[in-house]
Amino acid sequence: MIKAQGLRCGYDKTEVLRGLDLHLDSAELAVLIGPNGAGKSTLLFALLGFLKAWAGKVSLYGKDLNAYGRLELAKQIAFVPQESFFQFDYRVYDVVMMGRYPYLGMMQSWSQADHQMVGKVLASLNLGELSQRYYSELSGGEKQRVLIARALAQDTRYIFLDESLSQLDINHQIDIMQLLRSINQSQGKGILIISHNLNLAANYADRMIFIKSGRILGQGTPQEMMQEHLLQDLFGTRLSTHINPESKVPNIVYPGK
Ligand code: ADP
Repeated sequence: MIKAQGLRCGYDKTEVLRGLDLHLDSAELAVLIGPNGAGKSTLLFALLGFLKAWAGKVSLYGKDLNAYGRLELAKQIAFVPQESFFQFDYRVYDVVMMGRYPYLGMMQSWSQADHQMVGKVLASLNLGELSQRYYSELSGGEKQRVLIARALAQDTRYIFLDESLSQLDINHQIDIMQLLRSINQSQGKGILIISHNLNLAANYADRMIFIKSGRILGQGTPQEMMQEHLLQDLFGTRLSTHINPESKVPNIVYPGK
């Protein structure tokens, strides 16, 4: 379990997270939702150990995140950015192999087990045919799949994703959410994703975590959180919700003219 207690942190002298408590179970799919600038990415970076807590603490399995070595932590939590810009043009196979870095000893080369892991992950995400293509030449949806494959090759208990859906068309957003759900269910990995797509989040997540002004405004199941007054508090605008007959959870309906 990952736990943040009284977490405060930010950049330079500006505090962004203002005393935040959160726990993440390693078997759930949770979504961070909130307006721009609320502190969602900052929270993700603090939970990943990229940003140090100014006060309070973050712990993983009861041990302070600061007490983990960088490689030790990379074996526990994988990070999927919106998009990666590599200094060189790598082939898909090599991007996915990057997930194996935490397991590479000093001066070692990739082992048979590393190649097997990459092969397995590529096959499971239907990326086998793309494995020799250059990452830079892929579409947005394919790039996201490759970055998720890299995270899977990292063989962690947790995967965190930073707005991985926002550049994708609706078809690929659904595809990535379904993929994350199946990874969560079949491999029991804890997944935390920042998303601006309320309806997809509601349809696929176990828990929605609402963040506003560096604090948790509320959290709970999609049924509990997709309520008009909570959405009004979060975004400052009236959004009406109706039960989606397919998913059976409340979805927002966009207002008319
Ligand atoms: P969100 O992900 O919810 O949009 P962020 O966590 O990215 O919000 O940002 C929260 C606040 O922190 C914003 O006011 C933003 O301008 C500020 N911020 C984000 N990144 C940096 C940075 N690298 N340096 C200084 N301020 C930053």
